[in-house]
Amino acid sequence: MRIPERAFKLFRFGSAKGRSFFAALRFAGANRSLHNGKLFNGAIAEKAVDFFDDQRLKMLQFKGKTGIGAKMERCARPFSFGEIKPDRFRVPRHHRAHHVAPAQNNLALGKAILPEGFAGDSGHKITDSAHAAAPVVIFARFCRWLFGHAIDAVKKRRSYYAMVMSPAQRLLDWFDQNGRSLPWRAEAGVEPDPYRVWLAEIMLQQTTVAAVIPYYERFLVRWPCVQALAGAPREHILEEWAGLGYYARARNLHACANAIVTDWAGQFPGTEKELKSLPGIGDYTAAAIAAIAFNRRATVLDGNVIRVISRLNAVEEALPKARKKLFSLADKLTPDLRPGDYAGAIMDLGATVCTPSSPDCPLCPWRKDCLACQAGRPEDYPKKAPRKEKPTRRGTAFWLEAGGHVLLRRRPEKGLLGGMLEVPSSPWETGGFNSSFLAYAPAEEDWSPVTGIVTHTFTHFHLELQVMTAMGERRNDVDGHWVPMDRLEKSALPSVMQKIVRLVRGGR
Ligand code: SF4
Repeated sequence: MRIPERAFKLFRFGSAKGRSFFAALRFAGANRSLHNGKLFNGAIAEKAVDFFDDQRLKMLQFKGKTGIGAKMERCARPFSFGEIKPDRFRVPRHHRAHHVAPAQNNLALGKAILPEGFAGDSGHKITDSAHAAAPVVIFARFCRWLFGHAIDAVKKRRSYYAMVMSPAQRLLDWFDQNGRSLPWRAEAGVEPDPYRVWLAEIMLQQTTVAAVIPYYERFLVRWPCVQALAGAPREHILEEWAGLGYYARARNLHACANAIVTDWAGQFPGTEKELKSLPGIGDYTAAAIAAIAFNRRATVLDGNVIRVISRLNAVEEALPKARKKLFSLADKLTPDLRPGDYAGAIMDLGATVCTPSSPDCPLCPWRKDCLACQAGRPEDYPKKAPRKEKPTRRGTAFWLEAGGHVLLRRRPEKGLLGGMLEVPSSPWETGGFNSSFLAYAPAEEDWSPVTGIVTHTFTHFHLELQVMTAMGERRNDVDGHWVPMDRLEKSALPSVMQKIVRLVRGGR
């Protein structure tokens, strides 16, 4: 029987040109014999060998003093697993050829009996130990495959994040370290109070955090729960809201508190759909409350989030058309785990790092994903449709004083500054000041103009007001309420009306 040249070579200690240890294993596993194989000089054996003739001595005496060389050592190295550990695999470091029994003893006729005089059958030891080592090696290699990435991650934490963690997880990790501490934000591990979350989210509509905080704190002191707010007179709520702007929010706040108490037994509902059925709660606010107060997966899309998402994806479409696309992109990023924290995190990222005019990209956990940052022009996003020029409206306000009081009136419930107190005025109209403005004066008095113009900008137009003053009698046949001058500060006067007060008082 001839043995394959390749396998035989593996067994040629000292000059072995074996290609892999697996070949050696296969060789041993097949119990092939050396007796017909090439000898050490690479020549084909010249004659067949009788199975029962022990050729061992002949063969072993030939180059009998050859030790294991570097090549054999490499051959015996089953995997690229680092330096071989002889004792680990139980392979003796130095072998002599005569330590190896002829393979003919392993001919597939049964197990060869060790001949006397050979203290140990080292050839068997090699193959046996390799067999024994194989499961260990395979297991070790499996472990390396399984934990390879994790091991690298310990060494290179940053690249691990980039490689393994999703953008949402990276953002949450950033949030855990850098999230803002806000009065309405529950501490880690504390369940958020839906009333506080709702109150804050309503106040934060179109308004900055810095402007909201003092209002939020005053509201909480005065009305610490939804039942208290629902039971308060609306005038008191408007009074406390004065100066915060967008006064429809204050009216809706009161209406919503009443609906919660009346229809929901004082408990806020937890789904976006239910929340949207309440007064003053739109898509964004419902998503924010569902996520932050109830930890439900919901996609929040406010100004901060729009800015971050449009930069992250370099969305070329202009707002407001791009809104739908941005929502879809934001939705894909929103995780199932910790959606409440994620909502806070992406808002914080927009408010503190991805700011409108100077994004601090090196500090951003999404810098590697961000297309606008990679292009080097994040400030170009979000794209906005050209703004329409706001028209300017003009009108005349009438400041009527009598006995330490001033005449104020309440605006209609619906519309701009609905339900708020105002200094009586003529209609606000585009074009120049109405020359017949006196027709709108609350009383026939000797009106005189105040030097200066009050200007104010609303969402859709600029306003210019000229102011007329008069001193009169405190009559009851006028449209309005006489408010003591010293209580003006506490009256629920919207910002534009406060400007009139300042103009009049400043002129004295
Ligand atoms: S990398 Fe820069 S532009 Fe992009 S999301 Fe972060 S802060 Fe904004």
